[in-house]
Amino acid sequence: ALRREDKKVVAVVGAGLVGALNACFFAKRGFEVEVFETREDIRKAKVVKGRSINLALSHRGRTALKHVGMEDKQIVSKGIPMNARMIHSLSGKQSPIPYGKKGQYILSVDRANLNKELLTAAETYPNTKLNFDHKLQDWSAETGLMTFARPHGSKTQTQADLIVGCDGAFSAVRKQFLRRSRFNYSQTYIPHGYMELTMRPRNGEFAMKPNYLHIWPRNTFMMIALPNLDKTFTCTLFMPFEEFEKISTGDEVIEFFQKYFPDAIPLIGAATLRRDYFRLPAQAMVSVKCSPYHIGDKCVLMGDAAHAVVPFYGQGMNAGFEDCIVFDEIMNQFNEDFSAVLPEYSRVRVPDDHAIADLAMYNYVEMINHLILKSYIIRRNKMKCLSVADIPTVFQVTFTRTRYHVAVERWHWQDKVINRGLLLGAVGAAAGGFYLLIKNPPDINKLAITA
Ligand code: FAD
Repeated sequence: ALRREDKKVVAVVGAGLVGALNACFFAKRGFEVEVFETREDIRKAKVVKGRSINLALSHRGRTALKHVGMEDKQIVSKGIPMNARMIHSLSGKQSPIPYGKKGQYILSVDRANLNKELLTAAETYPNTKLNFDHKLQDWSAETGLMTFARPHGSKTQTQADLIVGCDGAFSAVRKQFLRRSRFNYSQTYIPHGYMELTMRPRNGEFAMKPNYLHIWPRNTFMMIALPNLDKTFTCTLFMPFEEFEKISTGDEVIEFFQKYFPDAIPLIGAATLRRDYFRLPAQAMVSVKCSPYHIGDKCVLMGDAAHAVVPFYGQGMNAGFEDCIVFDEIMNQFNEDFSAVLPEYSRVRVPDDHAIADLAMYNYVEMINHLILKSYIIRRNKMKCLSVADIPTVFQVTFTRTRYHVAVERWHWQDKVINRGLLLGAVGAAAGGFYLLIKNPPDINKLAITA
């Protein structure tokens, strides 16, 4: 991008996945981009603290990466394709459920690597500056003046024309929104926490089939596993907090796994399980919904800062990446006039982000309650029975850029069609049976003999 002297200053707060990608989008347009991140530069850090170790990257996220020329070499080649979900029953039986059509897959990518690549990509623009160890404390919606806490207790202030809040689920940028009138906000912690465990390679190979997202649904508990490039799997155990707390010794861990995930014990290893279960406490999961996403022409929220969703649809980052495309498209439409772009962005994007938050919450209930396989089979059979082409919601969400709220509307509509179709079918069958009965009444004597 060319540096244009007349260009405005855009401050991106948060250099996580969405902030780093967004910096590329703004830099590509030629803005003066300043990125502020509370952490040190993760490319130099010895230990990278983050949420999940790996993530499922799907169509929306990939499309956003493509917009800034990032999709192919650095990301896709380092991702592992997952063609289907693999359901592990208690007996150890494995049943695949495809996501989409044949040949379609989602990618398991390393969070830290993706974040590092995005930071490096942002830095290649001469009009972008990355500022680490800058924790946003406060900012003014009137002037765009931001105050940052620096290490060792010092503070710095700087001003921007536009502040883009990409500082995650507990956003400091969003705090200003909460002080204002007519800002809607809700946050819900689910009763489950999550814990990550590593499944090491066996004889130098993946311990399970690598091209699947493995799922162990067990009513109120669930475990999933995504493959990594080093042939390990990262297993994530989801469980109510009080269940996590009930387990306090290595023996109890093994007992618990024996009862619910027996096939995983030899794969993870009993000794590893005993040790790793106590390494870190279980982490909380929050769903945040708010609206609008902007204040005047000064500030806009994107990614988890605008919409933290529970991780059961694998869409949090994908939705955040799609935010960047949607904003970019509106920037084209309104010729980069922030006073028109920001309200339009809120108008267009809020219903979609709220829809994916709801879908993720719905999937939480389905996955945890072991309904995923059952509802897939029931739905597929219903569709076959009605000769209706099914376009599963998971396909539209994962493999298309169908607006999330439209995917939800179609899902409700399809459910209505299925239920009404089956009802009509049942009424039709009953009426047909009744007609045949009247036309050919059965021989009462024969019936009596049979009975
Ligand atoms: P974050 O990743 O939280 O980044 C925010 C950044 O802002 C951080 O770097 C933080 O240090 C910085 N920051 C915070 N406060 C300040 C401040 N005051 N000043 C300056 N900087 C600040 N999504 C998917 O699409 N697919 C998945 O498979 C998936 N799996 C998940 C599994 C789990 C267990 C969890 C918890 C989430 C998962 N997600 C997944 C969701 C995904 O992790 C998030 O949606 C994504 O990380 C959001 O990116 P973000 O940049 O908006 O926020």
